[in-house]
Amino acid sequence: MYDIAIIGGGVTGCAIARWLSRYKLKTILIEKHEDVASETTKGNSAIIHAGYASPDGTIRCKMNVKGNPMFDQAKKELHFDFERVGSFVVAFTDEDMKAIEHELKQARERNIPGEIITDIKRIKTMEPNISDKVKGIFYAPTAGLVWPFGLTVALAENAFENGVEFLFSSPVTGIRKTEKGFTIQAGEKQIDTIIVINAAGVFADDIAKMVGADDFTITPRKGEYILMDRGSCPVNYILFPTPTIVSKGILVCPTIEGHTFIGPNAQNQESKTDVRTTSAGLNEIIVGGRKLLPSIPIRSAITNFAGLRAVSNRNGDFIIEPSKVENFINVAGICSPGLSSCLAIAEYVVSLVKDHTTLKVEENPDWNPIRKPQKRLVDMNEDELSEAIKERSQWGRVVCRCETVTEAEIVDAIHRPIPCTSMDMIKKRIRPGMGRCQGGFCTPKILKILSRELDKPVTEITKNDKGSEMVFARTKQLEIQPWKGDKP
Ligand SMILES: Cc1cc2nc3c(=O)[nH]c(=O)nc-3n(C[C@H](O)[C@H](O)[C@H](O)COP(=O)(O)OP(=O)(O)OC[C@H]3O[C@@H](n4cnc5c(N)ncnc54)[C@H](O)[C@@H]3O)c2cc1C
Repeated sequence: MYDIAIIGGGVTGCAIARWLSRYKLKTILIEKHEDVASETTKGNSAIIHAGYASPDGTIRCKMNVKGNPMFDQAKKELHFDFERVGSFVVAFTDEDMKAIEHELKQARERNIPGEIITDIKRIKTMEPNISDKVKGIFYAPTAGLVWPFGLTVALAENAFENGVEFLFSSPVTGIRKTEKGFTIQAGEKQIDTIIVINAAGVFADDIAKMVGADDFTITPRKGEYILMDRGSCPVNYILFPTPTIVSKGILVCPTIEGHTFIGPNAQNQESKTDVRTTSAGLNEIIVGGRKLLPSIPIRSAITNFAGLRAVSNRNGDFIIEPSKVENFINVAGICSPGLSSCLAIAEYVVSLVKDHTTLKVEENPDWNPIRKPQKRLVDMNEDELSEAIKERSQWGRVVCRCETVTEAEIVDAIHRPIPCTSMDMIKKRIRPGMGRCQGGFCTPKILKILSRELDKPVTEITKNDKGSEMVFARTKQLEIQPWKGDKP
């Protein structure tokens, strides 16, 4: 019998798992995919928002304002990539100027540093390629960039090392109330638990419905992106337009790894799984992005992708509360700024467990907040690299040229506390395939390394979940079948 079962291994579920690992509790995290960060957490703007933007009095405002400063300590403990680069909200008209004055007012009321800059020369020095039509900006220096995969993996690994169990590839299909708590049907397994924490992203309403704790609905709101090649479209700051009612608008934004993206747009849809991009959506992004940065060289785009915001029917606010079913806590509608808020959400959820459930919560004296990071070539100087190669020749073999990832790093990722068994798992740890060629060069090499290290035939290595095998046979072993369709 578990004390707590968390459903969902996105950034929210993993942050909660890590916070719970401070206590003497038997906790399990159940995830339907083979890895953490497999849904909304993998498709977003990766901004740790300063906290001035969300409406007053909302839970998301409270969580963002509290959560942003928590990133400094978390970075020290968990060693993930995070940097406070600062953001601009760019005003072009008198009406936009009123909007940024409102943002400044909200920032002041919330003790968030920020200023309005109207000196165009200063703005141009800070961001040389910004549109000449700029009238003023609201500058918020505490806004930051994070690598969402790195953050989520770090939270999950630290939770794991402190005793949290992870059950992957196990979709929850039913939850039954029992005398002592709940029985969860997760893939082939039945999990008995006293408490359930529902952190299932866009599916949180479906999970809540399984026990009648669904006094809310979730609408998926798609946001599409275009990622530009490293160095092709340099920006120093996160550039927002003034916000719309449904989103923060289409932005131009550096990534912590040195690329730039444009997006996202905002489209409500019915499907909770459709993350395809459309040409209309991508055109909308280009037009939006060029308002802020007219020189965007769209030919330098290396990929496009989309993510789904989980928008609740409570004015789009987060729902973080004990449900009407005893010991069942909903952590739902975690749309933007969910990434920025995840650490504060985790702390708050644990306070709900303490105050609103039947569980006795005691500190774990052995809790270790420190996660040992993986050694990376990009962090080494020449001497360190020479030493590393002397000890292990795999440090001298670069497998992904775009992101400079060596064989040693891939092997180490495969043998991390939460072991990597697929292409995407490795990508989410150390980035091979995330650069200019998008895996064109390194994919076959990584397949071979995975096959060797896991002692499995290459035909059994998957891209991600079961059924996504990438290789079927050697080309020369395939029999070419005669064409049976219509003549061209
Ligand atoms: C376009 C866009 C831009 C954004 N930009 C930002 C930003 O810049 N800054 C910011 O702070 N936030 C941003 N966000 C919001 C942020 O990405 C989310 O708040 C956050 O990722 C939500 O994490 P989550 O763990 O709640 O959900 P998810 O990452 O979706 O995780 C939920 C998990 O539950 C699992 N699950 C679902 N159903 C089941 C089941 N039946 N059984 C088992 N597991 C299940 C899923 O597989 C998934 O892994 C953005 C979001 C989008 C879409």
